[in-house]
Amino acid sequence: SDHRLIYPPHPDQMDWSSLYPDYVVDEPQDQQSPAAPETPSDNNDSAPLKPKRISKDVEVADIGCGFGGLLVALAPLMPDTLILGLEIRVSVTQFVEDRIKALRAQNPDSRLYRNVGVLRANTMKFLPNFFRKGQLTKVFICFPDPHFKARKHKQRIVSTTLNSEYAYVLRPGGIVYTITDVLDLHEWMVQHFNAHPSFERVGEEEQEADPCVGIMRTETEEGKKVERHKGQKYVALFRRLEDPAW
Ligand code: SAM
Repeated sequence: SDHRLIYPPHPDQMDWSSLYPDYVVDEPQDQQSPAAPETPSDNNDSAPLKPKRISKDVEVADIGCGFGGLLVALAPLMPDTLILGLEIRVSVTQFVEDRIKALRAQNPDSRLYRNVGVLRANTMKFLPNFFRKGQLTKVFICFPDPHFKARKHKQRIVSTTLNSEYAYVLRPGGIVYTITDVLDLHEWMVQHFNAHPSFERVGEEEQEADPCVGIMRTETEEGKKVERHKGQKYVALFRRLEDPAW
C-alpha cells in the first residue's frame, strides 16, 4: 500500500539514473556534493549525495501503464525522448522493468529502449513530486480502471483535482491522451477536461493524424483485449492551454 511507496520530496531530488543509465552525465566525484548539510558521521558513505544527473528530462508519462505495451511501442517512435510508465501494482511494475531490460539486452548495439523506464507510484498522489511545472509534453491515460459505482467515482484518475495536476506538469501545447472502452467513463473524462480552464479538446482531424493515437488503440494490452472482444474504443485528446496573463 501507499506507505511503502518511495517518492522524492521535490523533482530535483529524484534520481533517474537507474531508470535511464545511458543518459547519465559523467561528473567528477567531487562535484557530487551532498544535497543536504552533512551530519557528523563516522561513515562518510552515508552522507546523502545529489542525485546523478541525466542529460534529458522525462517528457512523456503513461499513467497506469499496466504491462507496458504503449511504452515499448512509443520508445522507437520517439527515440530522443525520455518516456516513463507509472504503475501502482508491484508485480506489474516488476514485469515492465524486466521487459525493458530484456529489450535492451536484445538490442546491445543500438540505443533502442534506453529511453523508456517504469516506476512504481500512485499517480493520484505524488505526480508533482516527480515532475516540475511544465515538464511534460504528453500524458497518456489508457483504459483507466472504470470504477463504475457512483460512490467509487472519487477513485477515477480523471477528476477536477487531478486534472489540475496534469495541467501543472504539462507545458502549454502539451497533450493528454485518453482512451477507454467504457462509454460512461469516456463521457466523464470529456466532461471533466472540457470543464477545466487549462484544457481544450483536440479536433478529430488532428487527433486521427497523430501517430500516438493509433499506437494507443492497437499496442496497449487493454486495447488488444477490446479488439479481441470486438468492443468499442473511445478516444479523446486535450491540449494544455497557455495560462491566462494576469
Ligand atoms: N494502460 C494499460 C493498458 O491500456 O493496457 C493498463 C490499463 S489497466 C485497466 C489500469 C492500470 O492502472 C492497472 O495496471 C492499475 O494497476 C493501474 N493503476 C490504477 N490506479 C493507479 C494509480 N493510482 N497509480 C498508478 N497506477 C494505477
